[in-house]
Amino acid sequence: MKTYDCVFIHPTTHIKNTDSTKSDSITYVIMPLGTLAIANLLEREGYKVKVVHTGIEEMLDRDFSIKDLLKKYEASVVGIDLHWYVHSYDAIRLAETFKRNSNAFVVLGGFTASYFAEEILQRFESVDAVIQGDAEIPLLELLQRRSDGEFDEVPNLVYRDGNSLKKSRKRFIAETPDLDRLNFSNFTLLSNFDEYRRCISQFGDLDPYAAKSKLKTQGWICLGRGCSVNCSYCGGGRKAFEILSGRRYPIFRSKEKVVETLAKFEEMKISCAYMDFDPLPQKRDYQHDLFELIRREKIDISAQFLLWSLSDKRFLRDFRRTFNPLYSTITISPESGSEHIRKLNKGFYYSNGELFRWLDDARKEIIPVQLYFTSGLSGETERHFEKTIKLGKKLVVEYPVVSISCNPIELEPASPRFLHPKRYGISLKVRSFIDFYNIFKRLASGLPATTQLGYRTDFLSEPQIVELSRRFREAISLKHYEKWQKFYFGS
Ligand code: SF4
Repeated sequence: MKTYDCVFIHPTTHIKNTDSTKSDSITYVIMPLGTLAIANLLEREGYKVKVVHTGIEEMLDRDFSIKDLLKKYEASVVGIDLHWYVHSYDAIRLAETFKRNSNAFVVLGGFTASYFAEEILQRFESVDAVIQGDAEIPLLELLQRRSDGEFDEVPNLVYRDGNSLKKSRKRFIAETPDLDRLNFSNFTLLSNFDEYRRCISQFGDLDPYAAKSKLKTQGWICLGRGCSVNCSYCGGGRKAFEILSGRRYPIFRSKEKVVETLAKFEEMKISCAYMDFDPLPQKRDYQHDLFELIRREKIDISAQFLLWSLSDKRFLRDFRRTFNPLYSTITISPESGSEHIRKLNKGFYYSNGELFRWLDDARKEIIPVQLYFTSGLSGETERHFEKTIKLGKKLVVEYPVVSISCNPIELEPASPRFLHPKRYGISLKVRSFIDFYNIFKRLASGLPATTQLGYRTDFLSEPQIVELSRRFREAISLKHYEKWQKFYFGS
């Protein structure tokens, strides 16, 4: 058994298959970007650390159990990321196993843990502390303070003190120099990294046939933190960041550091960089400077860039000139075909006419586009959704769209809809951490979920919202079929 100062454990969501001849699903497997960076920071400070991805371990050994980890690693501190709510049950299950079978101090971090910190600590004795918000310096200080127990000195920490809870008065909010000190690409710290790179699918699931079918490898890159707007459904918008971490404005990682990471990606044979950070679309100097540096350094990599709003032609031209075209795409999420609903729900608004002009420009630059739509937005009726289907059909026929998808909008903790359901015209079926926990506990046990989405809107029930997305996908598949039939047979 190896001894570590801190072992980071990434939980994966389990969905039990009720058909006993089929194996269970392991899903939502992408690790938060910061996990490796925090682990690297601790290692640089002289601590012995390891990152374990439980989903990868299960992929490699279907008989894997968490107790196997306890036989392999003895940890003084166990850090479990509970960033996305889908891990609510599995994160606690891990915490309980470690607490029951070891003397490790168990600390949780991430958006969901930050939002529900007090409830988690009140309900689950297996969790010793939660770091709210940015976790780099707090975790380092937690390790330093473990021996004297002066946890009040650890920023962002909510912790158990005997039978009561305490919250440190100290605050850490990362700024650009803090991000620049982090190394997001020390992949050697992740147990079985090669498998992670090979098996991670585009949909965030583990791909059981990765070795056979997929040559594309993807790496997620940190460009910054925060957002400048509040989309109704987003738990990572400006207000949410302020609640979760105290951050009032977005910060960017310096472009030199980003290029360093991309060079590392190239060295590690990662063929596509996933870039999901675009909080100031009215001022994209950062991206232009970054792209220029990537070209100057001759980094040869594809990129999937998620635009949070439409761009100008210059951005498209720069994107095309910078990245290897093999896997490069731009993703944009109009969410609704109704301009009224889009305006009501999205922080960055654009009209359908502006979207068409942007797609024309993308076509001229020969940039493949991925599009996301959704159902269940605030104020949306079936009639509004007809416009979404109509727009989707037009887009697949007339524009360079390589993928288009539609799924019901999820209920994210700390999103404006979650915080003010009445104002946003929804009724919540899930309010507290235990509600999220119970949903995923049932799924892991093979029981039907009591709620699929956790909400209904003033105009649409849960089944209606689910059905609308299904109808969209069906209509688009048919349109695709007609398009190719016309292409091949001319009729
Ligand atoms: S979905 Fe909206 S609020 Fe959330 S990060 Fe994107 S632009 Fe910001």
